[in-house]
Amino acid sequence: MERTLIKNLSENIGKAVSVSGWVSVRRDQGKLVFFEIRDRSGSVQGVVLPKSDAIEAAKGVRPEYVVSISGQVNKRPEKNVNPNVQNGDIELEIQEIEILSKAETPFELGAELNLDTYLDHLPYTVRSPRARDIFALQATIIEAFRDSLRKRDFVEFQAPAIVGGDAEGGAAAFKVDYYYDQKAYLATSPQLYKQIMVGAFERVFTTPKIWRAEKHATPRHLSELTQMDFEMGFIKDHFDVMDALETTMRDVVAVVRHKHADALQRFNVELPKLPNEKFPILKLKEAQELLGVPHEPDLEPEQERLLHEWALKEHDSDFVFVTHFPTSKRPFYTYEDPEDSGHTRYFDLLFRGLEINSGGQRVHEHDVLVERIRQKGLDPEKFAFYLQTFKVGMPPHGGCSTGLERLTARMLGLANIREATLFPRDMTRIDARLSENTEEET
Ligand code: ATP
Ligand code: MG
Repeated sequence: MERTLIKNLSENIGKAVSVSGWVSVRRDQGKLVFFEIRDRSGSVQGVVLPKSDAIEAAKGVRPEYVVSISGQVNKRPEKNVNPNVQNGDIELEIQEIEILSKAETPFELGAELNLDTYLDHLPYTVRSPRARDIFALQATIIEAFRDSLRKRDFVEFQAPAIVGGDAEGGAAAFKVDYYYDQKAYLATSPQLYKQIMVGAFERVFTTPKIWRAEKHATPRHLSELTQMDFEMGFIKDHFDVMDALETTMRDVVAVVRHKHADALQRFNVELPKLPNEKFPILKLKEAQELLGVPHEPDLEPEQERLLHEWALKEHDSDFVFVTHFPTSKRPFYTYEDPEDSGHTRYFDLLFRGLEINSGGQRVHEHDVLVERIRQKGLDPEKFAFYLQTFKVGMPPHGGCSTGLERLTARMLGLANIREATLFPRDMTRIDARLSENTEEET
């Protein structure tokens, strides 16, 4: 018999069907055996009656067994209807069970675990309803990001992972042994390639894996992450990039609202608050004055959190832009604001009190760029490949980069970014634990 997906069972009441999937739960009740069976489309309760041919097989089935089941779809008696779950008004009366794969599980799926135990068992725990909610939502975020940009003529490209130097000239990179004793690095950003590609397509985006070798041990830093980047030509200034980013964020939130409202409810979080007006914007200096803190070159995590409180109170917004970071603290390709010397046309976007995106206008004049590279103590020769772009005509341009895992974590109210990362790499873990001596800081 052809397989029926669990989400379609309610259209087959009274009919014989075949269902394939995993056993989530087995429960014995008197002489009856109940199952919860799930496939990619959902979950359904099955029951094996004492006189069924399947009763002996049923008794041997354990959670996570993969089974193919034949049976009949029945309406549940009124008193057993559960309106709060999928297929709560039907039941599969099981007549035959074929075991496709046996299973042995270390603990019950969905059991409360500390993060390390959860990560140690990821091939199993990733099947939990909570993990599936997180990563289904993450898949939607990246898809919505792509769709939003494609609609506005951005072309997707693939950025390289192996690079000859550190693109940012700032972030720490992992070294790779390359051919004939040569050294290469894992990319810390797709930045330089995005700019090169503006020369070809004017508007581009990419969603690469990138690597950061800083010895961070915080709830918001990973060694390997996914960035969602775009870059666009013919801008007036950084506000054009901020507008494009705001549109993207609003589109992403709209799709999440449409597809995952139920998951947000399960996580007990609200949809991101979007102001009716534009996202609020503060210069770094203004933000610091507002908080009554000294003029430092960057914001502390606690200050970012306080700015969220301000944005919520004053603008009913979970998002707030901070602009005009000092030139000295930003990469060489950052455009200095001619009206605010020493400060950049650069921004961070904070979402619920955490930086999820950085971006701005980039330098497009060749000679200025060479000078800026020198000022940063870097060697322009090392950037000769990239610098060609600026010799062959580049429009004023800019772009930005969003961390997918940070956005996902903030969207679902997850305290630690590792829970929003499918296979997190950090100082203590590449799938398995490397060492247990690193303390968390905030
Ligand atoms: P931070 O100052 O918070 O360490 P950053 O300013 O170095 O981050 P950017 O170079 O601006 O990061 O990268 C763009 C985005 O990529 C960040 O806003 C963030 O969302 C994400 N990101 C950067 N580094 C990390 C990391 N180590 N782990 C997780 N996400 C990161
Ligand atoms: Mg940043």
